[in-house]
Amino acid sequence: MIKEEPLELQKGVEELREGLYRVATPVPFPEKFTCGYVGRNEVHGAVSFTILDPGYHTLGNEEIWQTSLQRIGVEPAQIDGIYVTHFHPDHLGAAGWMQQWSGAPVYVLQQEIDPARAAVTGVPWGTYGTQSLGRWFTALGISMEDEQTSKALLHMNDTRVPMFNPLPTLTPVRSGTQIPFAGTEAIILWAPGHTPGQLNLYLPQTHELFSGDHILPKITPNVSRLPGGLLNPLASYMENLRQLLMLPLGTIYPAHGKVLEEGVRRVIELYDHHIERAQLAAECAQGGRNVFDITIDLFSYRQLKVWDYPLALGEALAHLEYMVSQNRVDRLIDGKPTLPETRLESVLLDVPEAEMPTLRYRSK
Ligand SMILES: [Zn+2]
Repeated sequence: MIKEEPLELQKGVEELREGLYRVATPVPFPEKFTCGYVGRNEVHGAVSFTILDPGYHTLGNEEIWQTSLQRIGVEPAQIDGIYVTHFHPDHLGAAGWMQQWSGAPVYVLQQEIDPARAAVTGVPWGTYGTQSLGRWFTALGISMEDEQTSKALLHMNDTRVPMFNPLPTLTPVRSGTQIPFAGTEAIILWAPGHTPGQLNLYLPQTHELFSGDHILPKITPNVSRLPGGLLNPLASYMENLRQLLMLPLGTIYPAHGKVLEEGVRRVIELYDHHIERAQLAAECAQGGRNVFDITIDLFSYRQLKVWDYPLALGEALAHLEYMVSQNRVDRLIDGKPTLPETRLESVLLDVPEAEMPTLRYRSK
């Protein structure tokens, strides 16, 4: 039974149930804290501990982890594995430090290896460099001539690289792998959408789910179509939510915010939310418009600042592409509808710059 949660999360360690602990460490983002989890395992009398999501790397957070683990009674050598849900710095950032400190392997899902390696080495968007990113955003309808805009869009990743220092050595793990976790068995699940290879842990005996940023209690996870990323990230995300609803699902432990006792309800809420947003994106695409104009309408409830553009445009594009795959919206390349399966990269980036076509979306 889980204790009543305080109104706000507090930094440091908390025992959630026997053999399961949460370590909350501050992040300089609106989420305030990343929730790391520690599971105690006992296999044939040998005690070890598995960590999920080390979080953001600061000296203060190193100290929080060390004191928290000490309070639980964990020796560094007892850490058998460090699992990271996805490559973002508020999850993977402290993994390199924790690996050096404990000697434990750092695991990410196989599908996350490339995005994670790209992030820690500073190559934005995998094989597509900064040059391509400029073309991508131009195709979405943004004028890259304005210095502030181009800086915000093209160099958004530059500041991220130092956040992964020291670099962890990453070991790929497959979806479906079973590991001992928190007194029971956990299955590693592939939860694409927020990133291409987000890792979740599902505990079939207790129906608990460790959801990373896939399911969050207060905010909806950003699902963006980015160059070199998933072709239809929202379709992948929605499909995964449907799969989760087929499992017996109880408590959800997210990577930000409080424990969700009624996991199913939140999964349904997120599903409905994205259907609604996709329908709105289709309405905004009436008559055939570029992605930037659609984005401004889709987010009309708030004043978008230039640094919001990458995620807002990515999210609008993900919803439009989803509606293209649902046959509700046409994707117009130089005014002509294209097949949903057409990769945007091959049309926009793998052609000479002078031949780059116009891109528009039009509701049917
Ligand atoms: Zn996060």
